Amino acid sequence: MSSLLKGSTSRLLSYIKLNWIKKSTYRNCSFLACRGYIEEALEQAKSNDIDFVPYRIRGYVLGNKFSNANVDIEQYLEDVDGCVRDPSSVTKMELENGNVFTSSLKFSALYHKAFESLERKYKNEENKLEFINDEILQFAIESFVREHHERCLRSVLETNEERKITVLLANHLFSRLVATTPGNTYFITNDHFKKFELCPCADQCGDKIWYGNSGIGSELLWYGKPDIMVFPLGGSCSIVLPKEKKKEMYIDEEKRLIEVKKESKLLRGHTNVSQFVSQTVTFSFYQKGFQLRKPESFPQIVTMIPTIAISDKCFDVYMYDTENDILLRNDGDPIPLWNNLDNPCDATLNMGAVLQLWMLINHLSVQPNLSPLELEKFSLTCGFASSLTHERLSRIEKEVTMRTKFLDHEIKEIKAPKSSFKRKLINSNNQHQSCQ
Ligand SMILES: [Zn+2]
Repeated sequence: MSSLLKGSTSRLLSYIKLNWIKKSTYRNCSFLACRGYIEEALEQAKSNDIDFVPYRIRGYVLGNKFSNANVDIEQYLEDVDGCVRDPSSVTKMELENGNVFTSSLKFSALYHKAFESLERKYKNEENKLEFINDEILQFAIESFVREHHERCLRSVLETNEERKITVLLANHLFSRLVATTPGNTYFITNDHFKKFELCPCADQCGDKIWYGNSGIGSELLWYGKPDIMVFPLGGSCSIVLPKEKKKEMYIDEEKRLIEVKKESKLLRGHTNVSQFVSQTVTFSFYQKGFQLRKPESFPQIVTMIPTIAISDKCFDVYMYDTENDILLRNDGDPIPLWNNLDNPCDATLNMGAVLQLWMLINHLSVQPNLSPLELEKFSLTCGFASSLTHERLSRIEKEVTMRTKFLDHEIKEIKAPKSSFKRKLINSNNQHQSCQ
């Protein structure tokens, strides 16, 4: 037994050593060598710009796990009289006449500082903004030396196993989009039974897979464990995968069974959306508290905080701003991660989407922000923070942390006494007494 353990430990060490040599090789690639890839990514990100539209939280129950959260959202629509409209009440004529409308916001506008700084860096111009330093640009070296990671990541297209997809996305996509710092650049939640010790990609890269406690939140709001936590310089980003990956079977004309994966529908299912929104709002409160506790590192607070909801083929971006009570999601279908999906063996990563993911992950460094005009348009459209008392919001801001345990919400039933009971009047004026 001990020799078996020894064998496995030495194999693991040799894998780590081999992997370290690989990483060092990539680090030695210069920024100049990646300029072509960056140019391509910038062009693709601009030609496939993401439109964000505001969402309103119509109903919610607080105090649950993300996975049990019940949050009802609908697109925020307004009519010419300035009234908020339920999408189901809007007639075709109202839409055609422009009597009901919503505002949208471009990804490139929200992240204009990041685009500007990256373009200056790429053109070798003076970079006054200094948002994109060489360490953050590690992504260019790691992610754009893409032949290796792209090939490894293609393994996600050959499996339906959620755990395997999580590991492959964490190791060959997200961990490559953050600067290499001492310690882990990511970890996968440790609450699953099945753990891959080494990366399960078809290339057998030998990378060790990192697990940890990703618990975040508060019983006053929502809480749970994001599937992946990524740690860019000076911060973190939360990533979630849709659950209950369903396959639908169709019979074609030749009576052959064809498996159709409805990725888009899965990302937009009510249970998954509830989970994504509760996690997005909670993570945004967490990031606000995190920045406020380190004023020397964050003189300017970033309030628009993203959460990425991703499957093996596409992703959605949810963003919540706690200060201005704004919830955004990409308009239309989920954003494709791959090109040429008709033939998975030849599928290539959509580098514009990879660049957008890099900006989302590094949000505390590259600082997405809304212009005063956009703030005026979108402020308070979510209606969540404004539905809570100031005291409750203050308590939430203080109590949303990363921790290992949360008190699970349980519905308790109290048995009624057999004898009849009398409602106790609180005082002669029939005033209600606060239960707190
Ligand atoms: Zn691998």
